[in-house]
Amino acid sequence: MKIDFAKLQYQYQLYKTEIDTAMHSVLDKSNYIMGDEVRDLEENLQNFTGAKHAITCSSGTDALLLAMMALEIKPDDEIITTPFTFIATAETIAFLGAKPVFVDIDEKTYNIDPSKIEEKITKKTKAIMPVSLYGQPADMDAIGTIADTYNLKIIVDGAQSFGSTFNNVKDSCVGDISTTSFFPAKPLGCFGDGGAVFTDDDGLAKKMKSLRVHGQSKRYHHQYIGMGGRMDTLQCAVVDVKLRHYAKDLALRQEVAQKYTKALQSKELILPFVDKSATSAWAQYSVRVKNRDKVQTRLKEQGIPTAVHYPMPLHLQECFAYLGYKKGDFPVAEIVSKEIISLPMNPYLSDDEITYVAEHLIAATHFSKIDNN
Ligand SMILES: *Cc1c(COP(=O)(O)O)cnc(C)c1O
Repeated sequence: MKIDFAKLQYQYQLYKTEIDTAMHSVLDKSNYIMGDEVRDLEENLQNFTGAKHAITCSSGTDALLLAMMALEIKPDDEIITTPFTFIATAETIAFLGAKPVFVDIDEKTYNIDPSKIEEKITKKTKAIMPVSLYGQPADMDAIGTIADTYNLKIIVDGAQSFGSTFNNVKDSCVGDISTTSFFPAKPLGCFGDGGAVFTDDDGLAKKMKSLRVHGQSKRYHHQYIGMGGRMDTLQCAVVDVKLRHYAKDLALRQEVAQKYTKALQSKELILPFVDKSATSAWAQYSVRVKNRDKVQTRLKEQGIPTAVHYPMPLHLQECFAYLGYKKGDFPVAEIVSKEIISLPMNPYLSDDEITYVAEHLIAATHFSKIDNN
């Protein structure tokens, strides 16, 4: 058997008629920049999430920049975040000249551990940036309490978690500003780069709309230093079609995750944990194994692709050497980064495929243990 990690081609075939029609409609109008489809998608994103404002932008990375620019994050400000995430989370903080301040992760959810945040707050701290890793929001109750106490903003990096919930609220609505990404491999992906920011604050929304088009207030009048941060009309048309099917796709991801969990009961594996307050969008189904390299090689030989999100925590990345962190600073993130492995995950995995992956993964953990002895 040969397993497809994300089944993007399969998904295109599934929605091909609708997607082709939507894309051709844009081509016929040639309204490539800020066409009607952009506004349509934004309205539908608002309806789906319950956020008062959804503003599309050029990527999940630029969404984080827009959020921080709107909140006037400046050089020397500090933002507390997790070291166990994609580089964009902390890179954008540093790009604005601010300082990413890392806090170790929770052993079960792999999200930022709220009990370790307070000791990192200083006079310079302006915001907390939790990431909803693998699709699951962080503990937003605890983070919200800390933010209230110290008057900090919350920016949620929801690049992996569109459609997830915390206390039945969509994770696009749990921060002062939440972001997402429409990168093709994310749960709701376009055919290139795209993203969005969400907020209930009218002022922040207005500002982010302006920042997205070079800080302009009206044509060729620039109120702020902004960016070229628009999402293409074509990409909005694609996401709008996929959004119509997204509730169903999310439910299918949830089913796939449950089937994996049932099939993977083994002492050699640590399976994903979703807190009772949260639901996950299941961007990834990631398990912990010993001897990860060997397991990965064996699975590859069986036609099972896997990925590692992420092999090196951000505090140990060369680009952040200037922050002065060292090995051992965040022991949970460090051990998880050595053991974590993501299995093929998409809404369309068949029962046979799930069983095949599960059987070979369990076998691979046994073999790799024998190899090691
Ligand atoms: C993918 C991702 C981003 C960046 O999104 P892009 O659309 O690729 O720019 C940011 N943060 C996290 C946690 C991500 O997974």
